[in-house]
Amino acid sequence: MMAARRPRHGLFGGTFNPVHVAHLRAAEEVAEALEIERMVFVPSASPPHKSGDASGPIAPPELRLAWLLEAAADNPRFGVDPTEIERGGVSYSVDTVRDMAARVAPERPIFVIGWDAFIEIESWKDPATLFTLADFAVMTRPPVSDASLASFLPSCIRAEARVAPDGSSAEHGSDGAWIRLVPVTPLDVSASDIRRRLREGRSVRYLLPDRVHDAIVASGLYGPQPPSRGATPDADPASDTPEDR
Ligand code: ATP
Repeated sequence: MMAARRPRHGLFGGTFNPVHVAHLRAAEEVAEALEIERMVFVPSASPPHKSGDASGPIAPPELRLAWLLEAAADNPRFGVDPTEIERGGVSYSVDTVRDMAARVAPERPIFVIGWDAFIEIESWKDPATLFTLADFAVMTRPPVSDASLASFLPSCIRAEARVAPDGSSAEHGSDGAWIRLVPVTPLDVSASDIRRRLREGRSVRYLLPDRVHDAIVASGLYGPQPPSRGATPDADPASDTPEDR
C-alpha cells in the first residue's frame, strides 16, 4: 500500500457559471476536514453537458476564469488552474486529473465533487481510470440525504469497494484509494438559480463574493435580456456531445 505524502492537493472542477458562495464555502470546509493544503479550482472550457439552458447562457471561459480568480484571490489555500480553458475544446476530467496526478506524485490528488455530480460520474469518460488516479471527496448538497455511499457508487468500482459500516467512506483497489462523503453546511445556492435571477432582473447580491457580483452585473452577461435580442439560450453550438466529462 502506497502511503500518500503531504501536502495534499484538492482538484475542484466545475463549470462555475458563475462561481458562487456555496462553491467557496464547500471548498473551504472540505479543505479543512481533509487537511487539504492546496484547493485548486479548475473551470471547464466547453462542458459537454451544458450549452446554456432556460436560466441563461454559459459565460465565455475567460470571464468564468476571471471571476474565479477574483473569488479565490484572498484565500491562501485556494488556487485556480486554467488548464482546461487553455487546452480548449471539450474538457475531460480524467485528462486533467492525470496531469495533476503526475505533477504531485507520489501524492494522490483528491477530486472534490458534489454528490449530484458524483452520481452521474458513470457517464463520464473513463471513470475507472479516474478512480485509480485520485481519491474522492463527495460533498453533500441540498437536498441532503443520509444514504450510504454504497447506494450510489458507480458500477466500475462497486464490486470491489469496501464500504465502511456507517456508509460514509469506501476503499477500493490495492493501494488504499478512497472515497469519502464530506458533509458541508447545506447552502441551497446554484449557478442556474443565480443566472435565472439575473435574467429576471432580480438581485443576486450576497449569493456571490461582492467583487464577482459587481463584475457580473457590469458585464450584463446574464441579462435581463430584452426580447428583441431574441437569441434562444439553447442556440449555443457547443451543445451536448456523446461523451462526458
Ligand atoms: P448549475 O446550477 O449551473 O448546474 P452549479 O451551481 O451546480 O451549476 P457547477 O459549476 O456545475 O455549479 O458545480 C461545480 C461543483 O460544485 C459540482 O461538483 C457541484 O456538485 C458542486 N456544487 C455546486 N453547488 C453546490 C452547493 N450548493 N453545495 C455543494 N456543492 C455544490
